[in-house]
Amino acid sequence: MGNASVSMPDVRVILVRPQHPGNIGACARAMKNMGFRHLVLVAPRQFPAEEAVARAAGADDILAAARVVDSVRAAVADCVFVAATSARDRTIPWPRLDARGAGTALCAHARSGPVGLLFGAERTGLTNDEVDYAHVLVQIPADPEFASLNLAAAVQILCYETRCAALGAAPAPESGHRPASQEDFNRFLEHLERMMADVGFLDARHPRKLMRRLTRLFRRAQPDDNELQILRGILNAVEHPYPPGRGRGDNT
Ligand code: SAH
Repeated sequence: MGNASVSMPDVRVILVRPQHPGNIGACARAMKNMGFRHLVLVAPRQFPAEEAVARAAGADDILAAARVVDSVRAAVADCVFVAATSARDRTIPWPRLDARGAGTALCAHARSGPVGLLFGAERTGLTNDEVDYAHVLVQIPADPEFASLNLAAAVQILCYETRCAALGAAPAPESGHRPASQEDFNRFLEHLERMMADVGFLDARHPRKLMRRLTRLFRRAQPDDNELQILRGILNAVEHPYPPGRGRGDNT
């Protein structure tokens, strides 16, 4: 039973600081098996590499087209939705999905633009700062006594679930709103942080905790382009106040 003609959503599989080139190749193979093509490597220890090509077993076109960047921020810049995978429970209460739920969510968001799927390094996983770039945290419900899968096995499961969701997905509804890009979203957060520091609300010695909470709040809201513009407009108005009674009027 082949499904060759079904095109898969634009999911960017993002491997953060992968240590073993063999795993990169195995991930490329896992992706191609499920119909995904966009591989992004954040600061790989060794790439390109012969071992990666060997383990790709015919998916070397994915490796050849892989984009190499130096930060998670750059990797997700044009994504409208980002999911981070983790074997571990995190102390930060981030919105969570299991692998099946992640497949459905990635498919749904991919209707508006590229979506990112973050995977951590083999030994250490993703840092909390890297998880900050994600809307949801995804766990494969493995045995809690032995929950850490091989990197390529984790990629395989997430790609499989996303493929299943895509094969069963209903046709896309029109929303009318353009989703904000992650880069615009991150610039908004930087602007907010700057402004809060200026007005003395943010304790400059410990900015991270509050910023993480606010990041979570705004990510949950998933502002579209227009809504982000309004928020940026408010920040600008705080920095450069209009004279009383002379507001911009129509701010929408
Ligand atoms: N020791 C690391 C595990 C790294 S495994 C840790 O505790 O986080 C390499 C990567 O594979 C992880 O960063 C994650 O992206 C993915 N992965 C492994 N097991 C997973 C699981 N059960 N659920 C979700 N992702 C998993």
